[in-house]
Amino acid sequence: MIHTIDLHYHAGLERQEGLTLKHYLEHAVMTGRRVLGITDHLDLYLRPQQVLTNPAYSQDLQGLLALRADLDNVRAEFPSLRLLFAPEVPPSFALADIPQPLVDAADYFICEADLAAASCSANTLSLQERFQEMAAFRAATGKPIFGAHPLRHAVNLHLVKAPIPPWLRELSLRESLVFTQAELRRFSRLDPVAVGQTAVECGIPLEINGNTWERARAANLPAPLSIMLAIYRIWQACGVQFVVGSDQHAIRRSVGRFGGAVPWEVCDALGIEASDIGFLEGI
Ligand SMILES: [Zn+2]
Repeated sequence: MIHTIDLHYHAGLERQEGLTLKHYLEHAVMTGRRVLGITDHLDLYLRPQQVLTNPAYSQDLQGLLALRADLDNVRAEFPSLRLLFAPEVPPSFALADIPQPLVDAADYFICEADLAAASCSANTLSLQERFQEMAAFRAATGKPIFGAHPLRHAVNLHLVKAPIPPWLRELSLRESLVFTQAELRRFSRLDPVAVGQTAVECGIPLEINGNTWERARAANLPAPLSIMLAIYRIWQACGVQFVVGSDQHAIRRSVGRFGGAVPWEVCDALGIEASDIGFLEGI
């Protein structure tokens, strides 16, 4: 029943216009969620690049704390949900800069890393350094934290934001999930083994992210999905702990109810069950 756990659910300023937190929580209940990590990117409040017209919360620390208060105000109306507050930290935001009132208000943090470098070694180092920063933050504050969508940059790079390269289009599907290290590195722009080992050393769980999986599925090519599974398997073999989240933003499209999903089929393929999400025990 892993689909009942969604630790990455955008429902503050990143809600669709005209919808309230209650709409998002009603959607969560209707779609089988039981454990819900409500998030928003904290820079949208603390260092806004864009000023929103008519925002539901002010774009400052008080606004982000107001989202937390909103959550507490409606909690009693959603007794089937375990509601958590989990701000998402963008790559450029140093964890030490998170204001103490927000640290106090958060149940846990979701942390992105800068993976925009062209080289595999630079990205790997960037991610390893972010894991170390995350571990130090957790030790200093006592707040749990996990690494967000470690394969999103790869999916965006190869499948979403540019023409899909011929080598990836021509890559054959490997039911056995056996790919060469060179193929895995070429796709992920990471050294998967080094990343997995450092995540374990630092005790940082990694996210299996629904939005990333959906983007990859939408490309209609089976091979990238099996590469992603192969990388998750490597991390699993290293001893990495996983968390799951949909990373859903919108819940409605022209056809009606249409949100994002917890990537439960990935967990099924990896043999990960709800009881394996040890991260929840630390919250
Ligand atoms: Zn997110």
